[in-house]
Amino acid sequence: MFFGGTPFAAPATWARAVIPSIAAVLLLSIATGDAASSRVIARHSPKHHAPRLAALTPEPFIRELAASKRLPSNPSAASCNPSKLRIVLDVGHTAESEGAISARNVAEFVFNLHLAQRIVEKLKADGFVRTRLLVTEGKSRPSLFKRVAAANASDADLFLSIHHDSVPNSMLEEWEFNGKKSHFSDRFSGYSVFVSHDNPKFQTSLRFADLLGKEMKAEGLHYARQYTMAVMGKNRHELLNEETGVYRYDELVVLRQTRMPAVLLEAGSISNRDEEVEMMSPERQDIIASGVTEAVKEFCDPRWAILGPL
Ligand SMILES: [Zn+2]
Repeated sequence: MFFGGTPFAAPATWARAVIPSIAAVLLLSIATGDAASSRVIARHSPKHHAPRLAALTPEPFIRELAASKRLPSNPSAASCNPSKLRIVLDVGHTAESEGAISARNVAEFVFNLHLAQRIVEKLKADGFVRTRLLVTEGKSRPSLFKRVAAANASDADLFLSIHHDSVPNSMLEEWEFNGKKSHFSDRFSGYSVFVSHDNPKFQTSLRFADLLGKEMKAEGLHYARQYTMAVMGKNRHELLNEETGVYRYDELVVLRQTRMPAVLLEAGSISNRDEEVEMMSPERQDIIASGVTEAVKEFCDPRWAILGPL
């Protein structure tokens, strides 16, 4: 999160390099999108004189989805195929527009890049070989739209934007680090997960966000509670899941304009002096990478896509 100006922006020159490499990836064959689900619901709506949705067993869903040729015809044989899932790991901010500055004067972009690289390595090691790292250049806001264009051009199945949290400037306190005046806030800590209701695959985005929050929690991490607090002012957000730490943030460009399920992870606070040290450590980065990978594995399972969390 960056509270100092235009949040979550991206550039111009990246598109030439990034779009072709991402667009070269092959199409996914399993259905995790809302489009398939909405087709099923439409066919069973009352105006089509079909049974109510609540009365349907999973089997009709599976048959209809299989009929759409986006799932294997034998649902028992449907299992996660990591090699077919195309994931875009978006590195929040740019080298030119670095996002928040940590308590020890390290740019958020540096944290985002290191963590995202680690997540990509972990996902690829576990078979998600079509995972792509998206690094953009240039000024903040234009880069946001280039980022979105790259993800959409790649026809990705899942978009995950990696960020590190801070606090509004009004909450920052001064201290000295390495002889330089620096700013911190130890008041809040923890990860948080954001989704936009404006994303066309909102329900699927929310399901992945819940999985991600659940896995982060399972790794022993806690989520940031401050986004519902009055002290956050205009930066308050609706908490959609109080168990997993998923918040609603409709306005985020990279979540509302991407066509695939899209989620933004604030991995931890770099304004918090203790948590900043933890976020710098390979151990914490590995823990988060494992959490993301476990969530992606559950997301990849078509049974989960059809039936909801098992
Ligand atoms: Zn950020």
